[in-house]
Amino acid sequence: MATRLPPVDVVIVGSGWTGGIAAKELAPTGLKVVMLERGKFQDTSPDFLAPQSHDALKYSRRLELAQDLSKETITFRNDMSQTALPMRQYGFFIPGSGLGGSGAHWSGLTWRWGEWEHRMLSGTVEKYGKSMVPEDMNLQDWPISYKDIEPYYDRFEKVCGVSGKAGNLRGRIQKGGNPFEAPRSSEYPLPPMTPSQSMLMFEAATKRLGYNPFPIPASNCSDNYVNPDGIALGQCHYCGHCTNYGCEANAKASPHFTMMPLARANKDFELRTNAMVLKVNLDSTGKRATGVTYADARGREFEQPADLVILGAFVTGNVQLMLHSGIGTPYDPKTNSGVVGRNYAYQSLGGARVEIDRDTYMNPFMGSGALGTWIDDFASDNFDFAKAGFIGGAGISAGQNSGDPLTYHPTSPGKPRWGAGWKKAMAETYQHTMGVGFQGAVMSYRQNYLDLDPTYRDAWGRPLLRLTFDWQENEQKVMAATFARCQQIAGEISGKRPAVASPGRAMAGRRFSSVPYQTSHNTGGAVFGNDPRTSAVNKYCQSWDVPNVFVLGASALPQNAARNPTGPVGALAFWAADAIVNKYLKRPGRLV
Ligand SMILES: Cc1cc2nc3c(=O)[nH]c(=O)nc-3n(C[C@H](O)[C@H](O)[C@H](O)COP(=O)(O)OP(=O)(O)OC[C@H]3O[C@@H](n4cnc5c(N)ncnc54)[C@H](O)[C@@H]3O)c2cc1C
Ligand code: SF4
Repeated sequence: MATRLPPVDVVIVGSGWTGGIAAKELAPTGLKVVMLERGKFQDTSPDFLAPQSHDALKYSRRLELAQDLSKETITFRNDMSQTALPMRQYGFFIPGSGLGGSGAHWSGLTWRWGEWEHRMLSGTVEKYGKSMVPEDMNLQDWPISYKDIEPYYDRFEKVCGVSGKAGNLRGRIQKGGNPFEAPRSSEYPLPPMTPSQSMLMFEAATKRLGYNPFPIPASNCSDNYVNPDGIALGQCHYCGHCTNYGCEANAKASPHFTMMPLARANKDFELRTNAMVLKVNLDSTGKRATGVTYADARGREFEQPADLVILGAFVTGNVQLMLHSGIGTPYDPKTNSGVVGRNYAYQSLGGARVEIDRDTYMNPFMGSGALGTWIDDFASDNFDFAKAGFIGGAGISAGQNSGDPLTYHPTSPGKPRWGAGWKKAMAETYQHTMGVGFQGAVMSYRQNYLDLDPTYRDAWGRPLLRLTFDWQENEQKVMAATFARCQQIAGEISGKRPAVASPGRAMAGRRFSSVPYQTSHNTGGAVFGNDPRTSAVNKYCQSWDVPNVFVLGASALPQNAARNPTGPVGALAFWAADAIVNKYLKRPGRLV
């Protein structure tokens, strides 16, 4: 029996970027706001201080900052005919946990999505006709335009101190930036990071091939920076322990230090960690949330009554909580009806590895999560879909991330795979290898979706979330075509064919595998839209069915782009928080 706690005005579930932004924006309103985070409390000092924070075994192999899979996980299958099995070890994505969520240990690539990526359906049909969209593709536009969200992208970038170079300032193409970029109202807050050797070689090669390289926008600060909220971020020192690690310099923007201190400065804001939300409680009509039930670290259950519930529990957590709580109609792939679990999408990754001459040195132990150079020539709608035979495309890049020896040990083909021979081979190539990688867009399909697993349960007895996903023909084509481009660029860099090819997991007739890590960029499941028949939340991320529940995060994105999602996720969280503070709180009820 859960202990009933005194009521509060607002409960926020999760302390990642979405929960953190909501907390920071709502805490100063004078309302009683409680944030519930399933993971532990953590802060830069002492948790992320060097040298102990550079423990590769702990953070990059054992993934100390990720969710505890022994308590809850997902099940996975490729299609409806299969029985889904639980992810018992970290697989294709890493769900974050602890204060700051994945934002505490992400890489920091901070994109704005392109204009077409906000209107994929109408943008495609206008240019290529309806026949370009396969029948099973659930392509949908965002319910808001790039222009609507632009000021919120700008805000998120300024909070994070993004280092980059504008490519399109108020409609004017800028030298050195991305010429395909949508118009920006201002330059990035910081100049680009210092390029690595691999980036310089990629830049020269892609320019020779007539492409348009530019520095990846990075929430790894190229200089000391004080953001508009007065939060100081340090300068990145390219420590090489970035992705999956916390940052000792506060150079990698994270909600744990950009959002939480500001929220916690308000006396009516309370943070409770080790608080696992099990359910959103609804009243007898099923149309109004009355609060949440959560379990603490000792397994005690509490009911926290609240007038407003904001979910920021990542794609999987948001959808799982909605399904467990009966918020919105579950998606049915057979009829393509229902909305919760609809339009799940992922991203494709692959590329080529290049060995360069032994007089040119890379220093893979120095790098940062978002350090890289990119081309957008084959992404978004920057190329001819009809000619290519597919929608979406991919970005291509070279960079220098966390090259710690436990995770990065390139050797030439044919060399020993273990023992002294392997060590010698690795020493020969470690500083003379670079990658040319791609990140492909993935559209949503009626057969790729999320629902509750009929067999497996978590430590609290709730059905696990089940993911059903496979590559479709469009994405297979994107991977094949982009891999060929990567090979071309790799050949241009090395003067010969690349040493090792990794065409992406769709080649050679392979289906999607959930086993190797690929990317944590899941999207969909509670998409936003203008039509309650095809979206779970409205344009302000408010549940159509239970209007005092808002659902923030990449679960709102109707399909995935060829770039990382946290730029839009952060911008959308600011957009939704603005609507909550300035519209909903003044007149609680449906905003649309
Ligand atoms: C290793 C890694 C690298 C990444 N790099 C990039 C990158 O370079 N660029 C980019 O754009 N994106 C990147 N991402 C993705 C990015 O981190 C996420 O898009 C972003 O952090 C999502 O924010 P969120 O608030 O939606 O979710 P999260 O950050 O996942 O936060 C959700 C929080 O909710 C908590 N929670 C979940 N369920 C419950 C529950 N039931 N009760 C209580 N609490 C709960 C979790 O513990 C977590 O703290 C990366 C992710 C990972 C893991
Ligand atoms: S590489 Fe830079 S941003 Fe990343 S953890 Fe190290 S100092 Fe921080």
